[in-house]
Amino acid sequence: MPSHEGSPASKEKSYQSIDDIRLQEVEEDAAEYVVRVGLDTPPSEIETRIKRELEKRFWWLNKEWQEKGPPKEQIEIASRDAKLVVYNFGDVLSPERTQELQDAFTLLQGSLTENKIADIPPYCLINNESATNTKTGEDLSGNSPPKLNAIVLYPRSLSQKEHRILGVSNFEGTYLHEVAHCLQDQDFQKEWREKFEWKINNEEGASGQPHQFYVNTRPELVPNSYASLDPQEDISDSFVAAMKNPGAIDPARVEFIKRYWLREGEKVDCAIERKTDSEITLPSKESFAYAVVRRSGAPAFKI
Ligand SMILES: [Zn+2]
Repeated sequence: MPSHEGSPASKEKSYQSIDDIRLQEVEEDAAEYVVRVGLDTPPSEIETRIKRELEKRFWWLNKEWQEKGPPKEQIEIASRDAKLVVYNFGDVLSPERTQELQDAFTLLQGSLTENKIADIPPYCLINNESATNTKTGEDLSGNSPPKLNAIVLYPRSLSQKEHRILGVSNFEGTYLHEVAHCLQDQDFQKEWREKFEWKINNEEGASGQPHQFYVNTRPELVPNSYASLDPQEDISDSFVAAMKNPGAIDPARVEFIKRYWLREGEKVDCAIERKTDSEITLPSKESFAYAVVRRSGAPAFKI
């Protein structure tokens, strides 16, 4: 039985089961998650939906990670106000890579506005298995799954030396790029598209289906070919440059990121602690507050 009570030191190295989380039904405005269902949706379907939501938000409840067994190492990087917990499922990180993560997190703490610091996912998971980038068909370096509260880094982030942004290591660049995906909200993306001339193109796809994609009308100012895929990638790679090598890209992009996301830089100290084997502690969640909102005409729940 996984234990998630008591002090962290007494935690076992097995993963918490989703059934150990106390589900509490609360009013809508106090809920962590609002389930919107039809008038006659049965309780079993509501429960299934809540469990799926839990798996989306809390990586350690997800089979993909549980089946890997405990991580090989746990690295905690903490400033006075924030903490990043890195769980590494691959080979133990070299001192250089560990330093790069510490540098990247320290840089974020010292340069982002308070609002944006709150958007940095608290976990970074280093995956021992590769995945494919659906945008390019190549191996992924990193990913920031919506709602997961974790940046996922893949073996490619470690095997390649250079990031697309000149003078930045691929490991550090990938981490910062993925963090930037978590900082982007819809308003920011909309303003970016307008300012940097991204337009929607409509085309008929091979199967006759309508196919929509973004094109940039000033391609010479986009940082690189990957950033040319769409506005989100443009923003994320521009952020890597703004943080690590501002001279490498279009100055207007750096200026835009500074204006919205950065504050006057200050020196922040981050402490680092590395744990292996029996020192490793896995996260857990005690309870989850949800609300059910029923209305007629809500889309049927698909199993
Ligand atoms: Zn990206």
